[in-house]
Amino acid sequence: MGLTEGHQAKTVWENPAEIVRSLKPENPVMVFAPTVLQDRARAFLAGFPGLVTYAVKSNPDEAVIQNLVQAGIRGFDVASPFEIDLIGRLAPMAARHYHNPVRSRAEIAHAVGAGIKAWSVDSRTELDKLFEQVPPENCEISPRFKLPVLGAAYDFGSKFGATPELAADLLRAVHDRGYIASLTFHPGTQCTDPHAWEQYIRTAAEIAGMAGVQPRRLNVGGGFPSWRVHGVEPDLASIFELIGRTTAEAFGGNAPELVCEPGRGICADAFAIITRVKAVRDGQSVFLNDGVYGGMNELPVIGNLDRIEVLTPEGKLRGENAHGRVVFGPTCDSVDRLPGEISLPDNIQEGDYVVFHGAGAYSVVTNTRFNGFGELRQLTVMGFD
Ligand SMILES: *Cc1c(COP(=O)(O)O)cnc(C)c1O
Repeated sequence: MGLTEGHQAKTVWENPAEIVRSLKPENPVMVFAPTVLQDRARAFLAGFPGLVTYAVKSNPDEAVIQNLVQAGIRGFDVASPFEIDLIGRLAPMAARHYHNPVRSRAEIAHAVGAGIKAWSVDSRTELDKLFEQVPPENCEISPRFKLPVLGAAYDFGSKFGATPELAADLLRAVHDRGYIASLTFHPGTQCTDPHAWEQYIRTAAEIAGMAGVQPRRLNVGGGFPSWRVHGVEPDLASIFELIGRTTAEAFGGNAPELVCEPGRGICADAFAIITRVKAVRDGQSVFLNDGVYGGMNELPVIGNLDRIEVLTPEGKLRGENAHGRVVFGPTCDSVDRLPGEISLPDNIQEGDYVVFHGAGAYSVVTNTRFNGFGELRQLTVMGFD
């Protein structure tokens, strides 16, 4: 029974090639490897010198949340009433950090009702709203600060984050009102330069000095890189080590407890997207059945995923010789093009499959139905080899 039964009954596949071979899917498929996800979560839990929380927005799929709980994740970064309630339902014992620094009064009321005890803030006006609505007992507020962007593929600082001077004022105000005073930052997503964390942590110690307040915790954000580019697997262990060492150096004996909130770094490598070649137009540009309105929404902003395999409908790998091609998605909108050129095998053909590895972050959740496309199915695999 089980794996040897007919394809319809099958729920777990060996790898993407088996899905291609047996189903020849006409629509794009998001392929999920729970074992890879759990391994990533355990690498963070074992290596990061503090509490690991998962940034729900990067992939809020229920199977993802459930596997993370199974792997031992006990905290989540949530940004909306929907995410607060999702985690309340799927992981009722877990900590929820409401780290979207701008909230309506109705959203604050919802979060208070749901029992939220950790908040971030980056302005005086938003802090005053929290003071009005959030009881201080056993409740943590973390001013979020920013530095000019360093090392990340995509800067979050243009939207959120106080200057260090303002963060010091906010930290002092939080402390004086009787809340637990902590600090937080986010170095920007896909941050491949570990020294970004180093500079942020040293600045956090300066903010504490300016405020005359020792933060209880320091949340070093997300931004941990996933494996997007061929051949270079990011070295998380050395980032963890640098974060721990810099915190001890910068704060001395009074070091705050550390927290991190990775999204991409945990979920991205646990997924691949299987797309199909609709056309190779006059031997040149390649049209796929998924693109920037689908599971590859963030590629124009942070760059191509180049861990790609091209498979024949029989699941065989296409040849080694490759050259750069312009790649379009299926919609009639000229924005629907992957950035630059992508190296694809010379003998790629209509009906082949292009598998993009490392596609689990900001993909399932940003898929649209624009132009009637976006029928994105999710299937489970044992692994990717
Ligand atoms: C999006 C976000 C994260 C996760 O960022 P990644 O780059 O996916 O790790 C963490 N914290 C906050 C506050 C965020 O907004």
